[in-house]
Amino acid sequence: MTKKNSEYDFKWCPGCGDFGVIKALEFAMKDRITVKEIPMETNVVIAGIGCSGNLVHLLEGAQPYGFHGIHGRTLPIALGVKTARTDLNVVIVAGDGDFLSIGMEHIAPQAARNLDVTAVIMDNAVYGLTKGQSSPTTTLGDTTSSTPYGKVEEALNPLDLYMSFGVSFIASGFSSKPRDLAKIITAGMEHPGFAIVHVQSPCTTYNDTFEILKGNPKKGIQPLLWDIPKDHDTSDREAAYRLVHSGGWPVGILYQDLTRPSLDQHLDQTHQQIKVRSPQQLLDSYAI
Ligand code: SF4
Ligand code: MG
Repeated sequence: MTKKNSEYDFKWCPGCGDFGVIKALEFAMKDRITVKEIPMETNVVIAGIGCSGNLVHLLEGAQPYGFHGIHGRTLPIALGVKTARTDLNVVIVAGDGDFLSIGMEHIAPQAARNLDVTAVIMDNAVYGLTKGQSSPTTTLGDTTSSTPYGKVEEALNPLDLYMSFGVSFIASGFSSKPRDLAKIITAGMEHPGFAIVHVQSPCTTYNDTFEILKGNPKKGIQPLLWDIPKDHDTSDREAAYRLVHSGGWPVGILYQDLTRPSLDQHLDQTHQQIKVRSPQQLLDSYAI
């Protein structure tokens, strides 16, 4: 999709957090091509299904390659793209409903492989596109279109989950600060391995959490978001766990493991060991 599709007329609702995320991703990709002096086509954006996935059609300016796949399957598609073309910068865009529900089963295997992609997850704790059903990150007790008497499951903590799965770069961002978010996404793209940037991106139509996240002194509402201290050692796994369990919602880079080889590096090593055999040698190897 290196050419923008002018017939695609999907629109986000006014004030949707995803507007800030698209700005941040545009900043990050533009900065990358300027610094590396490479064309925009070296970026591939793979989208899941949901309001967030429509981001791939709404990017302004020079267009990356885009792939709008099926629900929950951004990671398998990214695995295919990245193993075929290790030189490409592969970015996933998906929502909490897509990535953490049906898509959950793919996170651990890619974490184990340390697949070198960056997943930008837009979390609004609801299924927006299908009109407001509860998602894995919806708060216990919340009333939604699918939980009219209140949600009966605890919300999962995605940052805790990514830590437990062994994702090698884990960061948290907020859609209302696109410049800051762009820096975090850039750090994720530069990380040699699996990076997840989990973004609080409120749904103004079905779950408007802007006030809870930012706080409102006039109403005595304390902000849920807080910045990770500058002296946090991102290589310290225990310290990252402590931040995740400190209450509220930390913003910044939580954890980065630079000691593990990425899947690309493992594949390179494997390819060097492969002995090419002739058709006759292959046939002979099956002979009894
Ligand atoms: Fe954004 Fe929610 Fe509207 Fe979807 S329904 S575009 S998530 S505000
Ligand atoms: Mg959602």
